[in-house]
Amino acid sequence: MGALPKRRISSTRQARKRAHYLRIKMPHLLRCPQCGSLRRAHSVCPTCGTYKGVEILEIDDSAKK
Ligand SMILES: [Zn+2]
Repeated sequence: MGALPKRRISSTRQARKRAHYLRIKMPHLLRCPQCGSLRRAHSVCPTCGTYKGVEILEIDDSAKK
């Protein structure tokens, strides 16, 4: 027989353990220095299309919903 746990792991300990490997991956959000809206870190801003002050994407202002 294999090794068995002596005690039942409490729900708090189980939840704390799960928080490490089952945590929801939240995108790291930062404020865009160009337009001030939230954008993901290390990525082009979806609102103004700039990254580190350089325009990469062309955003149509008229196409906004
Ligand atoms: Zn922006």
